[in-house]
Amino acid sequence: MTAEQRTLIAANEITGVQFHCPECQTKSIIPLNRIEGIPKNCGNCNAPWYSGMDEMQTVKDFLLQLREFRSLPSGVKIKFELRGG
Ligand SMILES: [Zn+2]
Repeated sequence: MTAEQRTLIAANEITGVQFHCPECQTKSIIPLNRIEGIPKNCGNCNAPWYSGMDEMQTVKDFLLQLREFRSLPSGVKIKFELRGG
């Protein structure tokens, strides 16, 4: 018998989002409750984090939708599977 372990996370378990700068490796976490003002540049080295305003807006929209999704009174329980390994 082969046992397979899966790691699942519910949206309401997500409390914050980590931003990891590819230039200087600085990491910062923004609570999902305060996601309206996502950073567009690294606070440490000032590297731009998006290829343009469209990309930044896509990220911001996704995070705002995720925050809203957490509080939906849906009967179905949805969890996200994390990559193993
Ligand atoms: Zn940086």
